[in-house]
Parts: sequence; C-alpha cells; structure tokens
Amino acid sequence: MILDIVPLGEPVLRKKAHKITKVDHDVRQLANDMLETMREAGGVGLAAPQIGQSIRLIVVEYTEPAEDPEDEQTQTFKLINPEITWRSDETVMGIEGCLSIKGLVGEVERAEAVKIKALNVQGQPVKVSAEGWLARIFQHEIDHLDGVCYVDRATEIWEPALEEADESETSEESSQTATDR
Ligand code: ZN
Repeated sequence: MILDIVPLGEPVLRKKAHKITKVDHDVRQLANDMLETMREAGGVGLAAPQIGQSIRLIVVEYTEPAEDPEDEQTQTFKLINPEITWRSDETVMGIEGCLSIKGLVGEVERAEAVKIKALNVQGQPVKVSAEGWLARIFQHEIDHLDGVCYVDRATEIWEPALEEADESETSEESSQTATDR
C-alpha cells in the first residue's frame, strides 16, 4: 500500500520517535508499505516519521553504481531501532534531497563510513557496515528518527535547476549528482 509522505512543517518530523518494543506483523507490514512508498516516490530511503508514524523504523534501498550494469547490486534494508555505533573520523560533503522537502537540495557533511546495530523485521539483532552513499543514506534516515532534517545540517540549501531537480527526483533522498566523488 502506498502511504502519504508528510511534508516538513508536520510536527511528527520534529519529534524523537519511539522505540519499537514488539516486532509483529503490523511492523512488518508497515516496513513493506514504506518500501513500496519509497520506490514509488523514487527515493532511496524513508523513515517512519515521514509517513506520520513516530516510531524507529527505516527502509533503505540503494544500488551501488558499477562500470558494468550487470555488476550492480541492489541492497535493501528494513531496520528497526537502528543506532549508529561508530562513525569514521573522515567526513565527506554531498548533496542531499528529502522526500519530505520537495524542490530543495542541500550540501551536507557526513561521516564517510558508519556501523549500525538494529533489529531486522524478524526481531533479530543485525549489524550493518556502510560507507560512501549508503552510509550517507543511513545517517539521513536515522536523523529523521531524532527529529532532525538534512536542512538543519546543510551548509548550503538551494532550489536545483530543472535538470538537476529531475535527477534528484529519481535518486532522493541522496542525490547522485553529488560532489564528493
Ligand atoms: Zn529525508
């Protein structure tokens, strides 16, 4: 089911979301609906507050670009109560957009790599290591669970030119038009 994505200005996007205490069918269904909603919106990540639910659940789907498209692998994550347990000292600048903030992009400094612990949709503990764009997407989504939006962290925010807007539309929340590679 496609869910409505709430825009910046809705109080739910500014709240610290609640921990999920029971991983049940409803949570799994919501994660599936969020993934479907994110894909339909052309995003690479979505956090539960963005569909109006103040709970700690994120979905991420990212395809690492490769020289040969056949080598490209799509990674899909549905993470419950995700926590960043380690961030690299090295940081990178990159251009982000957000499905809750239409028509804007911004340059944001993020850790180049992160380690995350979370529960999967079976309720089992999982650890994820991510670098580059995937690490950026996780940092963006986990920020949403603490009521933080990328515009709070951005050093610069602008309305992208039409072409750029099209591109960021297809690869939100982290635009591939980035400058850090
Ligand atoms: Zn976002």
